[in-house]
Amino acid sequence: MNLSGTLENNHAPGPLAAPGTVPQRAAYIETAAISANVRALRKVADGARLLAVLKADGYGHGIVPAARAALAGGADYLGTAVLEEAFALRAAGISAPLFSWLAAPGAPYARAIAEDIELAAYSVAQLREIAAAAQDAGAAARIHLKIDTGMWRGGATIGDWPALCTAARELEAAGRIRVAGIWSHLACADEPGHPSVAAQLRVFRQAIDAARSLGLDPGLCHIANSAATLATPEAHFDMVRTGIAVYGVNPLPVSERGTCPALRPAMTLGAAVVQTKRAPADAGISYGHTESTQRETTLAVVPLGYADGVFRSASSAGPVQVGAGRYRVLGRVCMDQFVIDVADDDVAPGDAALLFGPGDAGEPHVEQWAQASGTIPYEVLTRVGTRVPRIYV
Ligand SMILES: *Cc1c(COP(=O)(O)O)cnc(C)c1O
Repeated sequence: MNLSGTLENNHAPGPLAAPGTVPQRAAYIETAAISANVRALRKVADGARLLAVLKADGYGHGIVPAARAALAGGADYLGTAVLEEAFALRAAGISAPLFSWLAAPGAPYARAIAEDIELAAYSVAQLREIAAAAQDAGAAARIHLKIDTGMWRGGATIGDWPALCTAARELEAAGRIRVAGIWSHLACADEPGHPSVAAQLRVFRQAIDAARSLGLDPGLCHIANSAATLATPEAHFDMVRTGIAVYGVNPLPVSERGTCPALRPAMTLGAAVVQTKRAPADAGISYGHTESTQRETTLAVVPLGYADGVFRSASSAGPVQVGAGRYRVLGRVCMDQFVIDVADDDVAPGDAALLFGPGDAGEPHVEQWAQASGTIPYEVLTRVGTRVPRIYV
């Protein structure tokens, strides 16, 4: 397969692909796959609302196109970790309900409130800071109170929870805030049956009951990530927060995917082969000569490296598809490039080398890339570098 052919046939030109030129490297993003994944996940959520998680530039897919595709698929809410991400969505004219959950003292809360961004409160101090900003903004802040049900990351402990609820009630009465939700996060949802899941759900229900008995309307209760959405229906509550599954990756172990819908990976990462050449047996390859050719063979140079998100730990391991052939990284991954051994196959400069994608051309799944790199698909997708143009198809 030749990338220029692919481009002419299927793809709009991207930043490095002016009409008539071959994209040197590209992350092709199939926005229809994002929409279809959201549609499938909404069915699984079975009546609960769906928040599409768009943090980290939409898991590397481009935050604004990913948000539009998720909304087209029926997402009810959008979510980001940090406020800069939420501001980027509003700046693009996206007006959907939007929740942002990770902020330290001094965060631009007044701007967030003015832009109708819903905020998380982990502590009384944070809630009071947001309430003061609401006064400046001249509007009530919409707050999702966070209970730490046992991940021991952010959120109020069950011991601090009554004080947080009481403060929320007072600030509601004063017109500074409105409680929009109560939420938490699961530590081991991708291990269905892990005892911590049931334990965290128990604490979550306790926290919701406690909030009610302290006079709060809890609003939307939410705790499920993609894994819990797919594997733990009792974790769905009023809304699920799906991230990785929106982008087409199932976070569950293969043995636990029985009833899951098929999800389609939305990103294909590839580059055009720069050069091919014959090398004799015993040629030391790339930095450090960590590997040598076994016999006379053809080498191909692929222009993607660790600065593009191809992990150095994929050295001598990462799978690569060129045409009908499956190869692997030979020797070390460099900053901008790596080498593959294509044996005696007919590979030429300009041919597309595909690292991962939905598999339509036989290319590896991002799970295989992640495994070969010693990491998880989340990290592979979010590390695709800014030097790689996203081309929307
Ligand atoms: C990232 C994140 C999610 C989504 O997790 P996935 O495993 O990608 O579905 C949900 N909730 C919070 C708070 C997150 O930070």
